Amino acid sequence: MSNIHTFEQAFAVSFPVEAAEWVLDRISGLYGDELLKKLFQKFDIKLKKVFNINVADEVIVGRAVQRMVCSGCFSVYNKITTPPKKEGACDFCGTSLSVRADDDEETVRNRSKVYHNAAGVIISSFRNDKILVEIDGSLSDDKVWGSISSYL
Ligand SMILES: [Zn+2]
Repeated sequence: MSNIHTFEQAFAVSFPVEAAEWVLDRISGLYGDELLKKLFQKFDIKLKKVFNINVADEVIVGRAVQRMVCSGCFSVYNKITTPPKKEGACDFCGTSLSVRADDDEETVRNRSKVYHNAAGVIISSFRNDKILVEIDGSLSDDKVWGSISSYL
């Protein structure tokens, strides 16, 4: 394993400071508003935009309970929108697909609650800094990406 022991070290390795432009995916607030701000300050990173992709809990639950994953190559399928060509088997490596134990409705709803509590503070902070852009995540992937890329 690597000798990365802290989130701060991992952050430094993942995002070299000389990189002029990059996209940081999934800031969840789990690390806290203050820690993230300190890290951005330490590495002299100025966020230009933060996209908050809003998806209603009902949609998230619907997507999660339909999800199947391949333990061979980690491909993700949806029983309704993106089913595998052959039922129960991965299109890419043939491994049997399974449902994640934590994708049941109750767990997904609890996970969503934890997310909203953790992310609320940092989202407000980005809103106050006037860099927050709200995106409608209930639309198709193409439309969501179209909305985001119009700001890039
Ligand atoms: Zn696979």
